[in-house]
Amino acid sequence: TSYPSIVGEMLASGFGIIGFSWICSPACTELEVVVMDWLAKFLKLPEHFQHASDGPGGGVIQGSASEAVLVAVLAAREQAVISCKETHPELSESEVRGKLIAYSSDQSNSCIEKAGVLAAMPIKLLPADDDLILRGNTLRKAIEDDVAAGLIPVICIATLGTTGTCAYDDIDSLADVCQALNVWLHVDAAYAGGGFALEECTELRRGLDRVDSLNFNLHKFMLVNFDCSAMWLKDANKVVDSFNVDRIYLKHKHEGQSQIPDFRHWQIPLGRRFRALKVWITFRTLGAEGLRSHVRKHIALAQQFEAFVRNDSRFEMVAPQALGLVCFRPRGDNEHTAQLLQRL
Ligand code: PLP
Repeated sequence: TSYPSIVGEMLASGFGIIGFSWICSPACTELEVVVMDWLAKFLKLPEHFQHASDGPGGGVIQGSASEAVLVAVLAAREQAVISCKETHPELSESEVRGKLIAYSSDQSNSCIEKAGVLAAMPIKLLPADDDLILRGNTLRKAIEDDVAAGLIPVICIATLGTTGTCAYDDIDSLADVCQALNVWLHVDAAYAGGGFALEECTELRRGLDRVDSLNFNLHKFMLVNFDCSAMWLKDANKVVDSFNVDRIYLKHKHEGQSQIPDFRHWQIPLGRRFRALKVWITFRTLGAEGLRSHVRKHIALAQQFEAFVRNDSRFEMVAPQALGLVCFRPRGDNEHTAQLLQRL
């Protein structure tokens, strides 16, 4: 975290804004629109994720990666139900819902599996290849088998930067399958998203122009204190239309204008905190270059630590060093690793 972010957090608490719609606090909504577009540019995301683009895309700040994933899973589920009711009028809604199925890798974070539990939709954890990467051929085979068994594929959640080893799923080959079979593709880049900002990590962003949604935790790599999880959608209407529940007391006369979203439709709770303030203050104080050097510093530290491991015969690497993560273990019995962990 950083002092600028903590100041932003204190100010937001002091203002006491509960910005569920634009009218509650125009600054709360509009600053979020501004910082999410800044961030999209900073991370060099495809232009369609910006609010300022011509299309229906945009970004929103969620509390956690778990919430962002759940929002994507729920929206994909509702969109699948709508389209299946059109293509299969003979099926009742409960029959359709009973056939839905989602996919991720066995290396994905626990929050993916939990999203499936909360969304009442099974998520198959497909085996990653030996390098712990999920690729399109595994996904295609699983989907084809499931379709043959009468199931309806809804969403695949890929990971850029897995929790275990910071492995990067092959977004390009997964997108080939998802686009061909009309499956929503979400990318969980909770940790590794910080790498998108660096020229030398351009490879990480390959295929992102073909994903429907993605999330990145600013509280992991961007010096912003917990909680602050950025989420972008290629077509925000798919989320808004899925979650839109209105009451007379929520209406205001500026509703529906493209530049003033009511973010309550993009998330699970009604009320929302003024998180954009801490992002804005952090960016204004440290600057884009300051944040890039912070990420670079962590990568350099990891490389230095990797060299320590490689030069010490007591230890070995378990996976290649990736961004700030070095997976290593004492050689020999796994018990040594358990003991070291305990002592640490
Ligand atoms: N996704 C990945 C890849 C993670 O590493 C983590 C946490 O470590 C999460 C999701 C969950 O993040 P959150 O605590 O913001 O829900």
